[in-house]
Amino acid sequence: MYCRDCPRYDETERRCKDRKVNPQHYEEAVNVANVLGVRAICLFNDHRERLIRSRLRSAVTDSAAD
Ligand code: SF4
Repeated sequence: MYCRDCPRYDETERRCKDRKVNPQHYEEAVNVANVLGVRAICLFNDHRERLIRSRLRSAVTDSAAD
């Protein structure tokens, strides 16, 4: 979802009222998650589910290797 179409977007302040981040590309989402954590990414972001699945898969792989 584009922020400007979202009811949580503050037109005056030109930012998300919830202070979430909404990366437009998957690589950006990965970088944001690495720096700020997955919780910083908007629930409506197109890449969030893929990012979480990827991290869960990595966690399972890492724990299996231990
Ligand atoms: S970051 Fe998410 S919740 Fe915030 S304005 Fe954008 S789409 Fe809406």
